[in-house]
Amino acid sequence: MPQRLAIVLPPNSDQCPDMTEQTLSLIPDFDLSARNTLALKARSRFGLVLDAPDQVPAAFALAEKRGLGLRILGGGSNVVLSPEFEGITALVAIKGRSIREETDEHVLVEAAAGENWNDLVAYTVKAGFGGIENLALIPGTVGAAPVQNIGAYGAEIADVFESLTAYDSATGEVVEFSRQDCGFAYRDSVFKQQAGRFVVLSLRLRLPKPWQPNLGFAGLSELAGRDDLTPGLVMDRVIALRQSKLPDWRVTPNAGSFFQNPVVAPSQVEPILAEFPNAPKYPQADGKLKLSAGWLIEQAGLKGFTLGPAGISERHALVVVNHGGASADDISALASHIKATIRARFGVELHQEPVLL
Ligand SMILES: Cc1cc2nc3c(=O)[nH]c(=O)nc-3n(C[C@H](O)[C@H](O)[C@H](O)COP(=O)(O)OP(=O)(O)OC[C@H]3O[C@@H](n4cnc5c(N)ncnc54)[C@H](O)[C@@H]3O)c2cc1C
Repeated sequence: MPQRLAIVLPPNSDQCPDMTEQTLSLIPDFDLSARNTLALKARSRFGLVLDAPDQVPAAFALAEKRGLGLRILGGGSNVVLSPEFEGITALVAIKGRSIREETDEHVLVEAAAGENWNDLVAYTVKAGFGGIENLALIPGTVGAAPVQNIGAYGAEIADVFESLTAYDSATGEVVEFSRQDCGFAYRDSVFKQQAGRFVVLSLRLRLPKPWQPNLGFAGLSELAGRDDLTPGLVMDRVIALRQSKLPDWRVTPNAGSFFQNPVVAPSQVEPILAEFPNAPKYPQADGKLKLSAGWLIEQAGLKGFTLGPAGISERHALVVVNHGGASADDISALASHIKATIRARFGVELHQEPVLL
């Protein structure tokens, strides 16, 4: 169970009725089209920019007072936004980061939820500390990183997670989550399972010393054995690999990997292996096998496929792109087509990664 923290936040609206109106300024008819990496046209009846932790409970109190729903948005890099939202969209923009502690065994790094994730990676690397360099160039905010336990190049945030603080909108308390409390799994956590309940305020990472480079992933293994190896060198390689493989969302709007890699029983993989003996498969601790969603989509002949203004990237079969003017419905129609094709062709169910918001 997460620990209740003795953090004093400003009183809620019951104790101080005017406080929310005074400290928060609602932005009417808030345009989110430039605030999601799929570049979907989207508006919210109201917007709010939250740049201090005490504004979070105030925002919920204000929404309740006005009888409006409230949803949280970070960098908009893992969402499929509906065209209209009749409530308040609150952007988490709380800033601040620091090295809290350094011992012979570890470094504790703390960052506020509104910090840019990739900036945090660069900050730790510049300070000489390794541990999150494999997660470079993942778009979005620090606060959203634990929500789907971001991962890339054989690493995930759970590996170095120390703790986080979050506002619990169900109880009105600020709570501290240990690693165990978070229920981290592959692209999953309690924050994703209980969507909308918790607002992550700050994150603490424990980077182990001495640095242990994680070079097990294809593309990084050739760095092994280099005597000039540094976290910066690994970070630069990760960035170069990502730039060579993934379409840039600023040029071709997308939300990164659109489907999770399916984890299935060995019996489900047998017919696939009979046809494709070299199909990528990764054994899991529970005896199941993780397949590559991108490989399945490519084998089904869907790479580059388009449906209206939505399509699958020519460069990467796991990336759904907006070719211009696509709506959430267009993206969902394409996603349904991909899922049905993979189900019919391989008997495998794909699960969408970006959240419908
Ligand atoms: C080009 C590209 C590449 C990507 N590559 C990867 C990758 O390699 N690995 C990977 O794991 N992901 C990847 N992603 C997905 C995405 O970058 C991550 O999931 C990222 O953590 C989302 O951050 P965000 O701030 O943009 O969240 P948003 O998209 O704004 O929000 C995502 C979800 O988190 C919730 N949320 C946001 N902030 C908070 C908060 N402070 N507290 C509680 N809930 C919150 C939102 O309500 C929403 O449900 C990629 C995306 C793109 C566009």
